[in-house]
Order: sequence, then C-alpha cells, then structure tokens
Amino acid sequence: MHLARFPRIFLAHLPTPLERLDRLSAELGGPEIWIKRDDCTGLSTGGNKTRKLEFLMAEAEAAGAEMVMTQGATQSNHARQTAAFAAKLGMRCHILLEDRTGSTDPNYNENGNVLLDRLHGATIEKRAGGLDMNAELEAAAERLRAQGTRVYTIPGGGSNPTGALGYVNCAFELIGQANDRGLALDHIVTATGSAGTQAGLIVGLKAINANVPLLGFGVRAPKPKQEENVYNLALATAEKLGCPGVVSRADVVADTDYVGAGYGIPREDTIEAIRMFAELEGILLDPVYSGKGAAGLIDHVRKGRFRKGERVVFLHTGGAAALFGYDAALAAGAGAAEAA
Ligand SMILES: *Cc1c(COP(=O)(O)O)cnc(C)c1O
Repeated sequence: MHLARFPRIFLAHLPTPLERLDRLSAELGGPEIWIKRDDCTGLSTGGNKTRKLEFLMAEAEAAGAEMVMTQGATQSNHARQTAAFAAKLGMRCHILLEDRTGSTDPNYNENGNVLLDRLHGATIEKRAGGLDMNAELEAAAERLRAQGTRVYTIPGGGSNPTGALGYVNCAFELIGQANDRGLALDHIVTATGSAGTQAGLIVGLKAINANVPLLGFGVRAPKPKQEENVYNLALATAEKLGCPGVVSRADVVADTDYVGAGYGIPREDTIEAIRMFAELEGILLDPVYSGKGAAGLIDHVRKGRFRKGERVVFLHTGGAAALFGYDAALAAGAGAAEAA
C-alpha cells in the first residue's frame, strides 16, 4: 500500500507530538501513559477530523465542488473542522446539525463548535434527533444540485474509506515515532464514534504488522454495533488501499461501558477524567469523546487491565471546543451532569 497514490491536501500540522504523561501515570500508579496529540492538528483548534479531511477535501476539489456539505450532532467537531477546511480552500460549507441530546442550554446550542462553524462562514440547518442524517444530507444536497450548485457531500464524522486513510497514515506516523525513540508500545486506546479513526488505525497497524492491540472506547452505539461498523469500514478501507485481508474481525475491539445515558451526555467519570487531564497535565479533553475515552483508560488502569511496566498510548482526538457548550455540566459537577 502506498498512501501517496491518493489525492491529499496537506493542511494538518503533522506529525502531532507523542508525549509522556508523567503526572497522570504517577497518580494512577499503573502503566506508563503516553498521549498522541491529535488535538493539535492545527485547524481551528484541531482534532481528528483534519487528518480525514486532507483526503476528503482533495476529492471534493478534484470533483470541482464549489460547496461541501456534511452533518453531525450540534457540537460536532467534524462540522467545525470541515467548515474551517472549506474556508481555507475558498469553498462554501453547509452543515446539517442533529439535536441528538435534546439540550435546551443556549451555550450547547450556539456556543463552542456552533460559534466556530458560523465564524468560518458555514451555513447551518438544524434537524430533530433520531433521523437518518446521512439520508437527510443527501436529500438536502440533491435540492441544491437541482439549483445548479456543485456540491460534494461528506458523511458524518468523515467516516468512509477515503476519510479513514487519514488514520492509516496516523498509525504509520505513531509507530514511526515510537520506533525512532525506542519505545515499545503495548496498547493504543482511543475514543470511537463514527468509526473512521479506529478503522483507519487498525488497517494501518495491521498493514505494517505492528502487533500492538488497539482498543476503542465507544461514545454512542452498543458494542456489537460499534464493532460491526468499525470492521466493515476497515474492510472497505483495506480494499481501497489494495491490501484486502489484512484485518480480521478479532482485531476490532470496542468497549462501550463508558457511554452512560447516551451520546453527548457526560457521566461522572467523564467529568473526572476531564478534570484529571486538565489539573495533572494541562491538557483539555472534551465531554463527548475524549473524556469518555480517557474515563475508560483510567478505569482500565485502576482495574489492573493495563499493568505497571506496560506502555499505553492514548490517542487524543481533540474536541475541547465543545467544553464551551458544556459549562453547566462542568460547573454542576458530576452527579448533575448525567441528569442534565
Ligand atoms: C469524531 C470524534 C471522535 C471519534 O472519531 P470517529 O472517527 O468518528 O470514530 C473522537 N473524538 C473527537 C473529539 C471527535 O470529534
């Protein structure tokens, strides 16, 4: 496989740093915890979607698009990074935002990522929760195409085989950094949602036979559904790359025990994880994805599933812009967060 064969617009600040979390590791007394800083990809406060968009926006440009459209939850980091990328390329951006949490908090609905979407000049349509949002997206795009607009649609989270190439690349980058520094890695963990991050990583890790297990902490779907989504996307990504057969079903592991009441609703341990990273390491997590992933990481360490002497890398996927939509949950603290 050879990533340079695929069109790409180089915009992300890469490689992202790989850093050791000394104070968090000491506090937990378990393995050496490292962090891969994909919160620092450089585009409009960063995050994991920028790597995917490097490949997706290159396709949009090649297709002659004048507008990109995508969809996500109200506080979508993907929508914000798409809006910023489109601004950089001089394309228009139209976003459908799904009310997935039912929150009436004005900050949730207009601050954080939504504020940034609008700053980047994107136009927004809101949708009620529970719809088939990729179908809504295609229908809205068809209406614009009928008026003569050249529209390129990007699925939720940028998670298709093209977007997942960004995380194949991240797997190469991370293993390369570890090799250069003589760091033998025992585990990689990350939050997993629309599946492109985990699917791309697993294809990349397997393609180079890295032999480092990857664990995804779910943020929405139940475990069987999440694993099926990741597996199917990994198969399609491997096919696209010309290496079918590199991924087996057993390589795809998701733990969905830290989701709580639902997507975008932080639990007590989500808030605790956000506080620990902020106070011990000066790093901002988010209440929807990385906070839940980090809660899973912390719990696994406390339960001895990752042991002293091992080296665990937490892939930080970004999302801190959403904190400004969740000030009430953070101020109320834990118990109230789940009820909010
Ligand atoms: C989208 C997102 C994820 C999940 O990545 P997927 O590729 O959708 O699984 C994790 N963290 C943050 C901050 C995100 O915005």
